[in-house]
Amino acid sequence: MRPRVIVIGAGAAGMMAAGTAGENGCDVILIERNQKCGRKLMITGKGRCNVSNKCKTVQELIDNVPGNGRFLYGAFSKFMPCDLVDFIESRGVPLKVERGNRIFPVSDKAADIVDCFAAYAGKYSRVVTGRVKELIINDACVSGVKLKSGETLAADKVIIATGGLSYPATGSTGDGYGLAEQAGHTVIDTAPSLVPLEIHEGFCSELMGLSLRNSAIKVIDAKRSDKVIYQDFGEMLFTHFGVSGPMILSASAHMRDMERGRYRISIDLKPALTPEQLDARILRDFSENTNKNFINALDALLPKKLVPVIVKLSGIPLNLKVNQITREQRAKLVSLLKNLTVTVTGFRPVDEAVVTRGGVSTKEINPSTMESKLVKGLYFAGEVIDVDAYTGGFNLQTAFSTGRLAGISVSEV
Ligand SMILES: Cc1cc2nc3c(=O)[nH]c(=O)nc-3n(C[C@H](O)[C@H](O)[C@H](O)COP(=O)(O)OP(=O)(O)OC[C@H]3O[C@@H](n4cnc5c(N)ncnc54)[C@H](O)[C@@H]3O)c2cc1C
Repeated sequence: MRPRVIVIGAGAAGMMAAGTAGENGCDVILIERNQKCGRKLMITGKGRCNVSNKCKTVQELIDNVPGNGRFLYGAFSKFMPCDLVDFIESRGVPLKVERGNRIFPVSDKAADIVDCFAAYAGKYSRVVTGRVKELIINDACVSGVKLKSGETLAADKVIIATGGLSYPATGSTGDGYGLAEQAGHTVIDTAPSLVPLEIHEGFCSELMGLSLRNSAIKVIDAKRSDKVIYQDFGEMLFTHFGVSGPMILSASAHMRDMERGRYRISIDLKPALTPEQLDARILRDFSENTNKNFINALDALLPKKLVPVIVKLSGIPLNLKVNQITREQRAKLVSLLKNLTVTVTGFRPVDEAVVTRGGVSTKEINPSTMESKLVKGLYFAGEVIDVDAYTGGFNLQTAFSTGRLAGISVSEV
């Protein structure tokens, strides 16, 4: 008889798991609480879906998963980025590789990826709308699920693919943690990762809405003798609470032990120029504006919003004529522009994060199959597991690889 499989959650991991299990001969029901599959997938990569990263080795992938990367060895080995690319392209969605080896659909439309996986899941499983409330477990063996509506569905195997806690409006509200606990699993405390940062310095709110496209940052860890633990070049944004934007989200994943004041971010507003070149540039600007006040002489150098903030922080009187500015004052200005430092006071809440850290303990899941070590026939896939990766397509690759492995494993008797 064909094994009856229930997959809970039609996100990236669940759709892949359901399709794979069905294609491998199982009788599959995919249960999704939303009317539509893949709501989170739809908003990934700002609607473009950074579906994976063109890593060639398993180790490269693991290096980009700071949260329990080694646990994913089996899943990645079974289903690498090249396999995912073949999988998607063979279903009619061409992909392209961008900066940082990030893989996107050529169409720049996440909807194409959602459609591809929804079609795969729909072909090989029965997709049902409903919210799973409870697992049915007898003698440490799963035998079905109970829905919120009261309906029960029998199964030989159940895959939990309910995602994490971030962006709860997409349906990922952490239900899987409760289901796992019901099965006796340990859920490691959840926390936000890839998340905007709250900053002590008040000038961030004055800069609210300002986006810096070509800046560089360094993250400094005071607890490790001011070691630079991360650096990046790209885009960031000031907000009413602090800082956000792609570079900041990536940086946040490196702040593994958030403590108020432990991490500082040094922002280089002019990364293309050495301090000497920047000083020469400022001198040139000043010589073209000799009779102007300091506050009116920085417009060519900086975005308008930044000028009053930099003037204030420089300590140079705003009405000083530029031809009266001393070499020392200029040196201070250069150092400020190359090293505008802010102090991190905390993460924004998990519902604003791109991914959730923590989740079902990897110690209680067999990494070769994704099966629970505690309850026979119970499997996990995707973000519900205590794994989290950096930006660049690694979180989706993790969801697809674990979904694939769980889908294959349930079909092996
Ligand atoms: C704004 C944003 C942008 C992102 N961009 C990228 C990106 O470009 N690249 C990348 O690699 N990663 C990205 N991520 C992260 C990535 O989207 C997630 O890591 C990934 O979607 C996790 O997949 P999943 O299948 O485990 O969970 P989800 O995609 O969260 O799917 C879980 C599904 O389970 C359903 N569900 C939950 N509880 C129940 C229940 N009780 N019963 C039935 N159904 C249930 C939910 O409705 C949901 O559809 C982004 C995340 C966000 C929030």
